[in-house]
Amino acid sequence: MSAAEQEQNTSLLVQNKVGEAGPSVVKEADGENRCVTPRKKGLRQSKTAIGMKESNVPSSDHDKYGNHWSSYLGFEETVMGSWRKPTVYEGLAGLVQKVLRLKHELKVFCKENIGDVVMEYKAAKDNFCLNQEAAMLKLRDSTDEAKLRQAVKGTKLKAKVFYNFLVEKPKVQYSKGIWDNLLLPKHRFVYWQIINTQLLTRDFLSKFILIQSTLCPVCDSEEESHEHIFYRCIFTKRVQQEVNSWLGNYSWPSSTIDLSFRCDFKKHDLRKCLLNLVTAAVYYQIWANRNCCVFDLTCASPKSISLEVRNIVHLRVLSKGPFKRSHENAYLLNVIKNW
Ligand SMILES: [Zn+2]
Repeated sequence: MSAAEQEQNTSLLVQNKVGEAGPSVVKEADGENRCVTPRKKGLRQSKTAIGMKESNVPSSDHDKYGNHWSSYLGFEETVMGSWRKPTVYEGLAGLVQKVLRLKHELKVFCKENIGDVVMEYKAAKDNFCLNQEAAMLKLRDSTDEAKLRQAVKGTKLKAKVFYNFLVEKPKVQYSKGIWDNLLLPKHRFVYWQIINTQLLTRDFLSKFILIQSTLCPVCDSEEESHEHIFYRCIFTKRVQQEVNSWLGNYSWPSSTIDLSFRCDFKKHDLRKCLLNLVTAAVYYQIWANRNCCVFDLTCASPKSISLEVRNIVHLRVLSKGPFKRSHENAYLLNVIKNW
């Protein structure tokens, strides 16, 4: 195969592509692909500033929980203050006394600074049960026998048909692209939430719970919203550039509305189905990486995300099918097989 043919076989969008790395990219070791987020960097600096050696508290467990209690103002003072108090006993008995005292002081700290989680959970659960009962009563009032009969197939009541009768809103056109069988089920689920702006980004969260920062946990430079994390974030743009190095010069959706238009396509158009598959996989990985930034304070590299997406698309296409036989489809499948 000539060099030119080889280059052609690396891109789905070969007609438009410009300067790309092609198949020469090599998967890096996972450990090398993760870096710390600006937030984790800040925590490390603050530990150094208060005189704690990083090697003393470097474990991933500390960082995992550091995002919750330990990030509240006064946490370290409370813990260290309690721990340094003298004990009546010595040895193991003294240690037990310290741990029990710390447990009690952390309970008080949690109630005063974070809130009574147990009571909040009970109140939320009671509220949910009341709303559920109200919804059931409403359903009983609005349902008549004719509607129930329409949902009966043979001798069985079909819950799906009955539910569809109850949904009064028209079916959205973008649902075809989102619920396409070519996409991984978990990707479909997150993709649906993205297009309906239903993910719990920090701008939403801050409306009903108190959070320390509404900044994007990945770039730390702008408020986190759907529009930011999927269309404007500098990290997302870098991932898309990496993906374009093997996909071709793809113009990525610029907003949720743009995305919803792109998801309305004919199923027999394999090129659009594949671009939809790549888009869903990229958005899923971006959301998963965002969660790693929040809960583990680590961030993957754009290149590793890009290669992960290419791997997923490759395996998904090889495991699905058969696809309609045509000259263009044969070319596209050949491109993917050569990844
Ligand atoms: Zn960002």
